[in-house]
Amino acid sequence: MTAFTTLPLKPSLLASLETLGYAEMTPVQAQSLPPMLEGRDVIAQAQTGSGKTAAFGLSLLQTLDVDSIRLQALVLCPTRELADQVSKAIRKLAANIPNVKLLTLCGGMPLGPQLASLTHDPHIVVGTPGRVQEHLKRESLHGGGIKVLVLDEADRMLDMGFSEAIDDIVGRIAKHHQTLLFSATYPQEIRAISQRMQREPVEVTVETPHDEVTIEQRFHEVDPAQKIDALAQLLVKEHADHALVFCNMRRDVDAVAEELDRRGFSALALHGDMEQRDRDEVLVRFANRSCSILVATDVAARGLDITALPQVISYDIAHDPDTHTHRIGRTGRAGHPGLAITLCTTRERPKANNIEALSGKPLPWHPLKISPPRGKTLHLAPMKTLVIDAGRQDKLRPGDILGALTGDAGLKADTIGKIDVYATRAYVAIKRDLANKALERLRAGKIKGRNFRVRAL
Ligand code: AMP
Repeated sequence: MTAFTTLPLKPSLLASLETLGYAEMTPVQAQSLPPMLEGRDVIAQAQTGSGKTAAFGLSLLQTLDVDSIRLQALVLCPTRELADQVSKAIRKLAANIPNVKLLTLCGGMPLGPQLASLTHDPHIVVGTPGRVQEHLKRESLHGGGIKVLVLDEADRMLDMGFSEAIDDIVGRIAKHHQTLLFSATYPQEIRAISQRMQREPVEVTVETPHDEVTIEQRFHEVDPAQKIDALAQLLVKEHADHALVFCNMRRDVDAVAEELDRRGFSALALHGDMEQRDRDEVLVRFANRSCSILVATDVAARGLDITALPQVISYDIAHDPDTHTHRIGRTGRAGHPGLAITLCTTRERPKANNIEALSGKPLPWHPLKISPPRGKTLHLAPMKTLVIDAGRQDKLRPGDILGALTGDAGLKADTIGKIDVYATRAYVAIKRDLANKALERLRAGKIKGRNFRVRAL
C-alpha cells in the first residue's frame, strides 16, 4: 500500500483526498498515477470499483490552470449515468480548488440549455461522445486547449458504436495532448485505438488477488420453457435481495421483470428504451433497496453505481466472453464471495463453449431440478421509496427531508434509508412497514416550511 502523500500532488488535491478519507492508493491508482502525473499516456485495464475515476480525476486536476478560461480536459464516457458519476467524483476532488468549471454534456438531453451554459468554455467537460462531437462541430465548445483526453470504459464506448465519434473528436482537439485510456477488457479494437491515439503508453494491469474477491460461478442448463421458473427458484434459494439479472433483449427484460413482480418479488426492468427519468428512478430504487431484483440489458446496467452485488444472474448467457466477464465482475465483494449464475439453453451452448475456451478451464456446470411454482409468496424488498416533487431547484437538501421525517413525522432515523435529491425530485427510502405512515405524515406536515406533493412508488 502506498500513501497519496508520496505523490507530487497539489496541496489542494491532498486536502480533498483527506476529506474523502482516501489515504492509501488502490492498486490501479498506485500504478497509473506516477506516469500520468509525468504526462505520459496510460492504458489501464480497470473495472468499476478499482478507483480509476479518482486516478484520472486527480491527474487532470493536477495540470488544470484555473486562470485560463479554456477547455483543458475532456472525459468521454459511454453513458449519461457514468458521466454523472464521473462528474460528481471530479467535483469532490476539485472541492479545494476555487472556480473550477466542469460541465457534463450528454446525449438524450435537450441541446438548448447546454448551448446556453456554453457562453464560455468550461475547464473540464465530461460527456458522451456523440454530444461532445456535436458541440465541437458547432463550435459551441473549443478543443484547441485540451491537455488531457480521457476515454473511460473505452470497450463499452466501442460496443455502443462511438468509435467514429471518438476519432472525429480527436481530430478536432489540440494535437498535443495526453491520452488516458481505461477499459475493463482489452479486445483487439482497444489495442487498435491505443495504437492510433497514444504515444508510447504505459500499460497498467492489476491482477485481483484471489483472496480479496472471490466469485463463485455456476452454470445451469435449462429448457427454454423453464427458464423463468428456474430463475424464480434460484432467487428464492439464494435469498436474493439485491440481485442483478441480465437479459440479452429489451423485450425479455420487461417480460421477466413483470413475471417476477407477478410472483411476488420486488423486481424492476431497466433498458435503453425507457425515458431517462424512469431509468434514474429505477436505479435509485435498486440502490436504496426498495427493489431487490433488477432485470437489465448489459448497456443499461452500465449506469449502475454498485459493483459489489451478492448475486448476478445471466437469464440469457452473454453473447460473447467479454460481456460475460463484465457481468460477473459486478459481483464479489472483498471478504464476501459473490455468486454469478448463468442459465444456458442447449441452443446457447456454443456461447458457453466460447466462454470456456477463453477462460481455459472447464465451466462449472451444475444440475438444476426445477419444481413447478407453488403459488405466490412475497419476497419484498426491505425498503419502499417515497418521491417528493421538489428538488435542488427548490433548494431542498437531504437534511431537510431527514429533518421533516424525524421531526414532525416522528420517525426514527434508523427507519430512513438513502435520500437522493435531483433537480426537481427527491427520493427517500423508508422501511417498508413504515412507508405508509411516513407518507401520511409528510403529506400532513411541511418540508422546509412548504407543502410539496409526495407519493409512494
Ligand atoms: P471507481 O472505480 O472510480 O468507480 O471507484 C470506486 C469507489 O472507490 C468509489 O466509490 C471511490 O469513491 C472509491 N475510491 C477511489 N479511490 C479510493 C481510495 N484510494 N481509497 C478509498 N476509496 C477510494
